[in-house]
Amino acid sequence: YWSNVPMGPPDAILGVAEAFRKDTSPKKVNLGVGAYRDDNNKPYVLPSVRQAEENIFKKCLNHEYAPIGGDPVYCDLIAKLGLGENSLAIKEKRNATVQSISGTGALRLGFEFIGKHYNHAREIWMPSPTWGNHPQICNTLGITHKKYRYYDPNTLKFNLKGCCEDICSMPPGAIILLHACAHNPTGIDPKPEEWQILSEIIKEKRLLPFFDMAYQGFATGSVDNDAFAVRLFEKHGHQIILAQSFAKNMGLYGERVGGLTFVCADQDTAAKMMSQLKIMIRTLYSNPSINGSRIVTEILSSPELKAQWLKDVKEMADRIILMRKKLREGIEKRGSKHKWDHITSQIGMFCYTGLKPEQVLRMTKEFHIYLTKDGRISVAGICSSNVEHVAEAMHKVTAS
Ligand code: PMP
Repeated sequence: YWSNVPMGPPDAILGVAEAFRKDTSPKKVNLGVGAYRDDNNKPYVLPSVRQAEENIFKKCLNHEYAPIGGDPVYCDLIAKLGLGENSLAIKEKRNATVQSISGTGALRLGFEFIGKHYNHAREIWMPSPTWGNHPQICNTLGITHKKYRYYDPNTLKFNLKGCCEDICSMPPGAIILLHACAHNPTGIDPKPEEWQILSEIIKEKRLLPFFDMAYQGFATGSVDNDAFAVRLFEKHGHQIILAQSFAKNMGLYGERVGGLTFVCADQDTAAKMMSQLKIMIRTLYSNPSINGSRIVTEILSSPELKAQWLKDVKEMADRIILMRKKLREGIEKRGSKHKWDHITSQIGMFCYTGLKPEQVLRMTKEFHIYLTKDGRISVAGICSSNVEHVAEAMHKVTAS
């Protein structure tokens, strides 16, 4: 029956993890997958999450189905975490928020909703470069996607001018996908004053901003700082779409817990949007899983646990910032002739090193260090015991 099915290519990022697993060298380092590791290079369960799990266990809860859109208490808490306690949209009940299957599920649901219900310029503009799954989801759904300039490979910085020029060429009503913070893969975010400019021209061009916020808290260590752009756009009256994930900032990768919010013009529209979201979810997976959202709810609804969580997030972000500093110092002290300030100026989990594909290949072949072909490294995979090895490798492959 299935002789027509061709072998598909392995996933670019998960393929790196596979190659890493097969390597038997004790020196091997995995800088491919974007999952946080502690300074012993081990997966990390946040103390706030452990405590929440204990609290939940003691409650002896049942395992009944969640509502189609997820627990409304959870939805309320995560909308406030994203949009802020003082969000006008939430106060006016203009947000339609559902639980999603982590960030990927939120994007998929959001894009699918656009495909079905959006009757303006149905094309999604994405930064160049962007996370590989963004265009792939569009391809699966048959939705047009285009690129706008974001990263300038010459300056290794955000290309504000190019970005603004491209925004001006977008048709009114088009959707612009924005990474809310800790841009993946470049680690470069617009500055607050640049977000201000972007918000103004996006408004002027009547574009619909879709924020992907997979790293709230991971960029600066503060969930409020990292939500700056999202909240600014809402304050400016944009009817934003927001995809949230608790994979990284709560370390709940495998729990697949996230959210999708549409900020609407009025409460009546939000109610209609909610009804259509439920219809869509019903045929996709019927209703979301309950364990991850219980953990998030437990943390966000308890002032003590929330304070602990904010500390935990900051600790993770600070460790990444420290590793950036050590990596840069390690390369520079070996006498590298290149500039490495981008390692410390970029933020979030990833560093776009500027390594060329042939240098990436040498990193893997000669030094057993695994990363994606585009030269992106997950700084979370660096720790005190391997940072010198990574610095040595980066210096050697860029020396000649
Ligand atoms: N968006 C971006 C930009 C990401 O980097 C990721 C994770 N790699 C996601 C969304 C979604 O991740 P998840 O589905 O695990 O929440």
